[in-house]
Amino acid sequence: MPIYEYECKDCTSGFELKRRFGKNSGVSCPLCQGEARRVFCPVSILFKGLGSM
Ligand SMILES: [Zn+2]
Repeated sequence: MPIYEYECKDCTSGFELKRRFGKNSGVSCPLCQGEARRVFCPVSILFKGLGSM
């Protein structure tokens, strides 16, 4: 299961969550319960994708 990185919009604290691919709703900050958005790590993901081509 992939691990996604999230960042809280309110307190800007970062945290990681294991989520099934494609399920991207209802994520809240563990500290302030604020709305969190996913942080992409494009470098590692890009290299993995290119490696399979
Ligand atoms: Zn927060």
